[in-house]
Amino acid sequence: MPITLIILAAIGAVCFTIGAGIFLYHNDRRLVSAREWIEHTQEVLLSVQRASQQTDRIEAETKWSIATKDAESVQAAQRDAIRLQTSTLHLKQLVSDNRNQDANIQELLSCTSALTRTLNAPGELDAVKAETLRCRQALALMTEQENELLGERTATSSERSQMSVVTELSLAALSLAAIAVLFSLLARDALFRARIARQWLETNRQLQESNRELAQTMTALEQHAKQATLLAAFRDELQLCATLSEVYSSASVRFPQLLPGTNGAFAVINNSRDTVEKLATWGNPGSVVSEIFTPNACCGLRGGQVRWRGPGESEIDCSHFVGPPPDRYVCIPLAAQGETLGVLSIECPTEEIASEIGNRPETLRQLVHLTAIAHASLELRSKLENQSIRDSLTGLFNRHFMQIALDRELARAIRRKNGLAVFMIDVDHFKEFNDRFSHAAGDTVLREVAKTLQGAVRAEDVVCRYGGEEFTVILPEITENHAMERAENLRRSVESLHSNLGSDIYSEVTVSIGVALFPAHGNVSDSLLRQADAALYRAKNEGRNRTCISNDGFVKMA
Ligand code: GH3
Ligand code: MG
Ligand code: MG
Repeated sequence: MPITLIILAAIGAVCFTIGAGIFLYHNDRRLVSAREWIEHTQEVLLSVQRASQQTDRIEAETKWSIATKDAESVQAAQRDAIRLQTSTLHLKQLVSDNRNQDANIQELLSCTSALTRTLNAPGELDAVKAETLRCRQALALMTEQENELLGERTATSSERSQMSVVTELSLAALSLAAIAVLFSLLARDALFRARIARQWLETNRQLQESNRELAQTMTALEQHAKQATLLAAFRDELQLCATLSEVYSSASVRFPQLLPGTNGAFAVINNSRDTVEKLATWGNPGSVVSEIFTPNACCGLRGGQVRWRGPGESEIDCSHFVGPPPDRYVCIPLAAQGETLGVLSIECPTEEIASEIGNRPETLRQLVHLTAIAHASLELRSKLENQSIRDSLTGLFNRHFMQIALDRELARAIRRKNGLAVFMIDVDHFKEFNDRFSHAAGDTVLREVAKTLQGAVRAEDVVCRYGGEEFTVILPEITENHAMERAENLRRSVESLHSNLGSDIYSEVTVSIGVALFPAHGNVSDSLLRQADAALYRAKNEGRNRTCISNDGFVKMA
C-alpha cells in the first residue's frame, strides 16, 4: 500500500513540476512580451522626440537662412527636412500596429512632404512655420497617445511581474510541500521497511532458535530412547545370569555401548573384604587395572563415592593400575543393599569422551546400579540357598538337602547300575560330653567332627548333618568293601581328633557308623536310611566306636 502511495505521489510531483514549468514558461513569455511592448513604445517616443528636434532645427535653420541669406543654412534645413521625412517613415513603421496613430502619422507624412516642398522654394518663412507647427501638433498628439500607451503597458507589465512573483512563490511553496510529502512518505516507507526487516530478522532468529531447540530435543529423545532400550536389554540379560562372571561379562558388553570409545574394568571385593579382584574388562586400556589389589588402592572405594581424575584436577591417583595411571579416568564404587561390592574403573582416552560421560550421568548411574543389584541378588540368592540347604553350625548340607541328594544319587545309580552307600554316623555319649564340657564345647566338637568327615571323603561324596549329633554320608559309585573301608576311615579320623588337635576334650570323642548299601539293602532312600539307622543302632548296642553294616553283623574295629 505505501508503495502505491509513493508511486502516485511521485507521478503527481512529476505532473505538478511539468505543469508548473509550462505555466512559468508562459508567464515569462507574457512578461517578456509586455516588456518588449514598453520598449517599443519608448522607441516610438524616442523617434517622435527625434522628429520634433528635427522639426525645431528646420524652423531655426529656416529663420537663420532668411535672416542671414546664408545658402548653407537653407541646404541644412532641406537635409533636415529629408531626415524628418525618413524619421516619419520610420515612425510609420513603428506605429503600424497601432490604428489610433494612423491619422497622426498620415498628418505627419503630409506635413513633412509639404515642409520639404516649401523649403525647396526658399523665402516662405510663414509657410515653413505653418508646416512645422502642423508637424509639431501631429508629433504632440503621437507623443500623448504613446505616453498613454506607455502608462498602460507599464501598468500591465508591473501587474504581470507581481503576478509572476506571487505565482512563482506559490509554486515554490507547493513544490516544497510536495517534496515534503514525498519525503515523509519515503521516510515512512523506509522506517516501515526497517521495522519489517528487524521483525523478520527477529522472527528468523527465533525460528532458528526453535529449530535448534527442536533438533536438540529430538537428539535428546533419540538418545533417551536408545539408552532406555539399552537399559531394558541389560536388565533382561541380567535376569538370565547365574554367576558373577556372567553378570560382569554382560556388563562389559553393555557399558561400551553407552560409553563408546572408553576402556573399563570391573573388580569385585572378596568375602573377607581384604582384596579386590578384576573380573571383566572392555576396550584396549592404555593403563591396565591390576588382577588383584587391596580396597585401599582405589580412591573411589576409599571415599565411597564416584571419583573423577583428570589432568590438573588432583595429584592423588589410584594405585590399582599396572604402570602409570591414565590421564583421565573415573572410579565408581559398585554398591547395593548398603554394601560396597566392587568398583568400576573407566578410562577416557580424550577430553571429549570424558565430557560425553558427564552428559549422561543418569543412564550411567542406572547401569552401575543394575550391575550392583544383580551382583547383590546373586550373592543373596547364594546365601539363601546355602541357608536352606546348609546347616548353620557345621556348614554341612542339612537333612532336607540330604534327602534330595540321596534321591538324585539313587536315581543316577539305578540308571548307571552303580553301587551306592549310605552312612549313618552318631557321636557316642554326646549327652554326657555336653554335660561334662558345656554345650559350647559340644558345638565345637560337632564342627570339628563335621570338618573331619568332610575332609575324609571324595569330592563326589555328600556329607550332611542329619540332626543333633548325627551325620549322614552318601557315597555314590562304591562297592561294599570300599564302603566299609571308607566308613572305618571316617571312624578312625574322628577317633584321632584327640591326638591331632591335642585337646583333652577330644579324648573320648568317637562315632558309631551304620552302613547300608544299594542295591543290597534297599533301592529307595527311606529303606536305605532305615537300614543304615538299624546298623547304627546295632553298632551302639555292640559297644559304640564301631561300624556295622546292615543285616550282616559288624566290622569290629579295635
Ligand atoms: P549315644 O552314644 O547313645 O548316642 O548317647 P548320646 O548321649 O550321644 O545320645 P543322646 O541321644 O541321649 O543324646 C544326644 C545329645 O546330643 C543330646 C543333646 O544335648 C546333644 N546335642 C544335640 N544337638 C546338639 C548340638 O547342636 N549341640 C550340642 N552341644 N549338643 C547337641
Ligand atoms: Mg543320637
Ligand atoms: Mg549320640
